[in-house]
Order: sequence, then structure tokens, then C-alpha cells
Amino acid sequence: MKNQPGNSSDVSSEVSHGGTKEEVGRVAVPSVASGEGAAPNAPSGSQSPLGALGTTRPTHKPPAPTRNSVTTILSDGSRPFLFPADTRGRFTIARRIVALLLIAFYLALPWIKINGYPAVFLDVAERRFHLFGITAAAQDLWLLFFVITGLGFSLFLVTALLGRIWCGWACPHTVFLDHVYRRIERWIEGDAVKRRALDAAPFTPLKITKRIVKHAAYIVVSAAIMHLFLAYFVSLPEVWSMMSHAPFAHWSAFAFMAISTAILYFNFAWFREQLCIVICPYGRIQSALIDDHSLVIGYDVARGEPRGKAHASAGLPAVGLAKAGHCIDCFRCVHVCPTGIDIRQGLQMECVGCTACIDACNEVMTRIKRPRGLIRYDSQAAFSGSRTRWLRPRTILYSVLLLIGASVATWALSTVHSASFGVTRMTGAPYIVDATSVRNQFLVRIVNKRNEPARFTVRVSGTPQGANSIGFDNAVEVGALGELVQPLIIQQSRDGYAGPFRFEVHVADEAQSFDLKRAVDFLGPEARLLKEESQ
Ligand code: SF4
Ligand code: SF4
Repeated sequence: MKNQPGNSSDVSSEVSHGGTKEEVGRVAVPSVASGEGAAPNAPSGSQSPLGALGTTRPTHKPPAPTRNSVTTILSDGSRPFLFPADTRGRFTIARRIVALLLIAFYLALPWIKINGYPAVFLDVAERRFHLFGITAAAQDLWLLFFVITGLGFSLFLVTALLGRIWCGWACPHTVFLDHVYRRIERWIEGDAVKRRALDAAPFTPLKITKRIVKHAAYIVVSAAIMHLFLAYFVSLPEVWSMMSHAPFAHWSAFAFMAISTAILYFNFAWFREQLCIVICPYGRIQSALIDDHSLVIGYDVARGEPRGKAHASAGLPAVGLAKAGHCIDCFRCVHVCPTGIDIRQGLQMECVGCTACIDACNEVMTRIKRPRGLIRYDSQAAFSGSRTRWLRPRTILYSVLLLIGASVATWALSTVHSASFGVTRMTGAPYIVDATSVRNQFLVRIVNKRNEPARFTVRVSGTPQGANSIGFDNAVEVGALGELVQPLIIQQSRDGYAGPFRFEVHVADEAQSFDLKRAVDFLGPEARLLKEESQ
């Protein structure tokens, strides 16, 4: 098993101390991996790029990562910190654009107002949830069922078709790690080679300064993200108000902020890829969601094997390798991998679909004048020479379930209004009979979900001749985010009483933008018995 000190996995100790994989990669293709990847073709024990910091480090070829263990978890439970190299290429650029758009979207949501509320405002204190103009109260929480199942089926379908596209392109963890925290790290500590060298170097004033600046930046960014996150629950003005008061004035919010900032900082500063590998449940169920026809990032074995060597001076496949595959075993795809795997060993659970190895290998292929796409997005069927089938039982099933879920969710959302109401029978006798009438008494509870007062009219329909309602002769006003409970009495004359009946109670806003109704049963004695009693 790899990553065990003392066995063939010397790579583990190398990785845990900064690793030499990347150096080997650079040795294999000196002019291919530009920037961080560019290094002289050095023999074992030569002066590596780390020499810039006065450190001579041996370079020797590590055994490739295996599929039998996780590169970043050693057998003794320790975790080697990875220093993935930077990549350049169209996927890197596209992912960065998508990430910046997503970050802008996350930042903008609390500022964008729809119907007087932030686009996403989960007002837990008032038990009101505002989502893109739709306001749901606590009693509308059943809608969550449709939201969660809808998201679940969407994710199932997307994964069955496109593999871990979510992980690589849109997951907030990846977005913030790759495009915020790693960027900060690179600005302060330099490229992967410099970072690794700094990590291995003794503590000097320069190293201490860089580390303090980096971690201070991490903490500031983590606090900013958590403040924004809090705004989703209490609104921006409230966050601003909390910030302008002493922490003990809002100690619970302050404690939440401090703890969540610490967790975020820990995750992005140190835990990183471990969250994807050992915690995220979505990552764990990948193998159940994808099949041979799902789009994945993979290595074209037929084209790449057997691996050749780069010609040291020209950067071309060495002489005598006419039958060699296109892979020159430069390890560049391994060095850029943020989870430390070798994609050439096949699809692995640790692959988060970040596309770094595609760009890295494309850069290599371009330099050695081979077609790009040795590592690419494709299905495993296509990699084995078959045709990719998009229409498959599982994609059809997920699509049907998603369609049904979306239809029901659309209907459910259309039933949500800025007010809700309920009618309950008053406790005690279900009906009252006196000398002239039969009476039922109810309580009508109207909930105003808006944060401004609103007036409502209440009326009844479907009552038989001779029945009248008491209690809501005029429109009633309900305060902002408030509720009103008021009695409603339905009275039926004894002469006109023909037995129990069903009627409807309606509540409408003054603008008549909606008319909510509830069916209610009027209870009473058997009409025949009442008549006999009257005679
Ligand atoms: S797959 Fe590409 S990047 Fe990876 S070792 Fe082979 S040539 Fe280098
Ligand atoms: S194998 Fe490639 S796509 Fe997967 S995590 Fe590593 S670099 Fe990213």
C-alpha cells in the first residue's frame, strides 16, 4: 500500500514534506511545464528550483499514487499537505469566470430586493422565508419537501449525465478554495515550488511574516464570508447594526460568527481537499450515481500507453518510441491535482472534477506537438472505444422524477401568497341550539407575511338560505409580520335548518390580488329531531 513509510511508498514521506513529484515532472518535461513546472532536467540529487532558497533537495522518481489508498491520508493517520501547481488553459479560465460570477451572485443576493425583501432572506426569528419574491411562513415549510427533493433529483440527473460537474465548477467549497484562498496563498507565498520550499524552510523572519500575513488574510476573508452568510438570515441592515454594537449586545450572533469563522478558516487554511474526500456525502455516493456513460475527466489509455519519455533537449518523445503512446510520464497531471491522485490510474472517488489535469496535459501535448485531449471530458465508454449513450434508463428515470417534482413544486409555489389563514372550531360544544337558531363558533387566524401592515376582507360562501355570519363585517388590519385571531360565528335559523352543511370561508387582501379559501363543516343536530323538538 502506498504512503507507508518504509515501503515502496517513499512518495508519502516526500509528499508529506513537500514532495518531489512535481520536481520529477519538471525533470521529465523541462520546457513543457512552464512557470512552476519549468525546471532543468536534473539528475537525482541535483540543485532543484528550491535552491533559490538555498535548499538542495534530492529529486527521484516517486512511485505513482495507487488506487488502493488515499494520497493525503497516511497509514498512521497523518495528512501530508499538498502543494498543487498552477495551471493555465481554457478550462482554468472558464472555471475562474464561472467562480467569479458565482461569488458575485452570492455577494449580491442579500442586496437585491424583490417585493421589498432581499432575494434570499431566511428570516428565522420571524419564521418567514423570502425566496426570489416568494414569501413562505412556518406553516408553508412543507414546500421544503419539494425544494429538497427537486434539488436531489436535479443533482442525480446532472451527475448521471455530467459526473462531478457540480464539484469542479459550482460547489461553494471549490469556488472559494480554488479561486479565493489558493489565490491569496499564491499572491503571498508564490507558486507551488516556492510554497513547498517555504513550508520546508526553517522559521525565519521572512517565513514568519508571510505566514502571519497569509493567515490574517484567511481570517479576514472567512469573517467577511460569514458576515455575508449571516445576512442571509438576519438581513444586511441587521448585520450592520450588530457590527456597530459591542459583541455582548448580540452575544449569540457574535458567538455564531466567531465559531463559524473559525471553522471556515480551519477548513480553507488546512482541511481543504479532506472535506471532499472524507466528509462530503455527495462525493461518497458518486459511484452509485454515475455509470460508464456519464461524462467524467479521464485519461485516454489507448492513446497514452505505453508511456514514453520526453526528449530532454527538444521536449519531444524520445527516439525509438515510435510505438510509444502519447503520455510522456511527466507527472504534470499529478502535480496539479489538488487531491493528489494520478488520473491515469482510472476514475477515482477523490477526483473532484477540477479540470486542472486537462489543462496541464493539454499544455504538455501542445509543447510536444501531439493532439490535445489525452486527458479530457469523456465517458468511460468512449475511452474504451464505444459510443456514449445519453439516453439510459437512469437518466430517463431521473428526468421523469425531476419533471414530476418540478410540476408539483410549481403548483405548490403558486399556492403560496403573502398571507395565509386557518379556521378552527372553538373548543367546547360543536354547536349551540337556542330558541331561534343553530350556531357554530370558529376562530379565524390570519397571518400577514409581509413586513408592512395589510388589510384583509373575510367572507363566507356556500351557506344555505337563512344563514348569516357574524364577526367580520368590515375589513381587518393585520400588523407587519403579525397575525390576527378573531371569532367567526355562523348562525342558521331553526326554521331554515336542514341539517349539517359545508361552506367556505374566504380571505382576500384589499387589492384582491388573491382570494384564499377553506372548506368548513357546519355541525348541528339531525333536522328531523330539531323539528320534532320544536313542535
Ligand atoms: S497524462 Fe499528460 S500530463 Fe500526465 S504524465 Fe502523461 S503526458 Fe504528462
Ligand atoms: S484528477 Fe484531474 S480533475 Fe480530478 S481532482 Fe485531480 S486534477 Fe482535478
